[in-house]
Amino acid sequence: DPSASKNFIEQQIDADLAAGRVDHVHTRFPPEPNGYLHIGHAKSICLNSGLARNYNGQFNLRFDDTNPAKEEQEYVDAIMDDVRWLGAEWDDRLFHASDYFETYYEWATALVKAGHAYVCDLTGDEVREMRGTLTEPGKPSPFRDRSVEENLDLFALMRAGEFPDGAKTLRAKIDMASPIINLRDPVMYRIKHVSHQRTGDAWCLYASYDWAHGQGDALEGITHSICTLEFENHRPLYDWFLDRLQELKLLPHHRPRQIEFARLNLTYLVMSKRKLLQLVKEGHVSGWDDPRMPTIRGLRRRGYTAEAIRAFCERIGVTKQNSTIDMLWLEDAVREHLNETAQRRMAVLRPLKVTLTSYADGTPLPEGVIKVCELDNHPQHPELGKREIELTRELWIEADDFMEAAPKGFFRLQPGGAVRLRGAGIIKCVEVVKDGEGAITEVQCTLDPDTTALVDGKKVKGTIHWVPAEDCLDAEVRLYDHLFAAEDPEDVPDGKTFLDNMNPNSLEIVVAKLEPELADAQPGDRYQFERLGYFHADPIDTVAEAPVFNRTVTLRDAWGK
Ligand code: ATP
Ligand code: MG
Ligand code: MG
Repeated sequence: DPSASKNFIEQQIDADLAAGRVDHVHTRFPPEPNGYLHIGHAKSICLNSGLARNYNGQFNLRFDDTNPAKEEQEYVDAIMDDVRWLGAEWDDRLFHASDYFETYYEWATALVKAGHAYVCDLTGDEVREMRGTLTEPGKPSPFRDRSVEENLDLFALMRAGEFPDGAKTLRAKIDMASPIINLRDPVMYRIKHVSHQRTGDAWCLYASYDWAHGQGDALEGITHSICTLEFENHRPLYDWFLDRLQELKLLPHHRPRQIEFARLNLTYLVMSKRKLLQLVKEGHVSGWDDPRMPTIRGLRRRGYTAEAIRAFCERIGVTKQNSTIDMLWLEDAVREHLNETAQRRMAVLRPLKVTLTSYADGTPLPEGVIKVCELDNHPQHPELGKREIELTRELWIEADDFMEAAPKGFFRLQPGGAVRLRGAGIIKCVEVVKDGEGAITEVQCTLDPDTTALVDGKKVKGTIHWVPAEDCLDAEVRLYDHLFAAEDPEDVPDGKTFLDNMNPNSLEIVVAKLEPELADAQPGDRYQFERLGYFHADPIDTVAEAPVFNRTVTLRDAWGK
């Protein structure tokens, strides 16, 4: 049964197609341009564009720009760029709810004429107070029974700018006793004398989400309007408006169907745009594109690939149950993609100097280059070639790859012990040099250029990475940890906020030693630094000959440990 592997949305679409309710699939992604997109939005983008692709249908990008006070062009541009980067193509189907303002107004006027909407003079607070509760019915507005003529006049004057902000609203006339609170005469229009980034000062009336969203869907011929679960109790209103417009024969297409799914939450992160904005505005992060942020911008700068994000969204699937996904799933997805695609390089994050004193048999080393080492750019992809690194007498290894008093089972370097230097040979520690305070400043070793040699009749178990001291490149490398120290940052006692859960150690900056070849790294290049993880040449701070690297993710297993 092929439908068994389909998610509940696909099953619904199949049923709609089978019943002839629709003969094609048309979806949309409807961001409000009041912030940058985050990984939760990526889920919605992948879901909507993926359904359109799989059903040979169409996918719209629609800006739900009905609330001008919080919207900005900067967000519009960034959203388009991020959606495109994710690989969701809207072709020429870019829409704006603001393009429908005139139609919304005409349709609202038709509802007023049909007795389905009225102008109300109550304040926002009064409307809220009189709406009632789940156990108590609402109280009708004293303006509920205004005549159609009076309503039409007042509505026209509202549009003409005759009233100040908040003086009047247009409300749907439904049922103040409905068990569904959203049906207790919801507000359709508010007066706001605010310029809109696209319509300028043409309007001082702005439609509510409920009186805009389904109407935009209907105008665009959307068949399946997929949104997150918090809109489930708005669906009766979504349908009520469409029912009235259908009765009035105003709908240009088949009517859309709203389907809800569970929003994505991730451990150690907050996802609401309001909270992300607070992090940016208060300077807790460097910006929307801070690599610790769950924004698409942040993930891009961190080094995530679109393929990895799409694979992640596919893997977590869609459900109707709210849950929090472990960050490890996201990290695994990028690790998998970069393991396949990123070239290997060597870098040392916390350097300890090693000096080679002689060959293992005591013969002196040559001056200058001892050996030209050839290393694979990718162990599984020989077609990606090899690179050369010159081994000289002085080199850097990772400080924690050496231990003076090593426990049993430590297979890296220790006094009298041997370790394999990746691609170069086997070194044996003969001397530990310390400064006046007893800190280790250098380790002296002998070299056996044969990487398969036995040392003292024993196989060498450990392999470590290294860089030559002379030609290496000093570079800034940024190491990231979770932005929040708590799995659920929003779970706080009274008097605390999610900010109290920020991880003070989420960013560590080191000056690392990189193999010489990395001087050519271009902004946006991705590498695996052997044993350390995947790193992304920062697209903004990397300049010629001076790359800056962000660690995207660590390796699951470090070889040789
Ligand atoms: P937030 O609540 O995080 O501030 P939003 O829902 O207000 O975001 P919109 O721009 O209105 O942001 O969202 C555009 C679309 O993305 C909507 O269809 C919304 O349901 C969906 N979406 C938003 N957040 C998530 C999420 N965490 N998981 C899945 N879909 C989401
Ligand atoms: Mg929203
Ligand atoms: Mg929101």
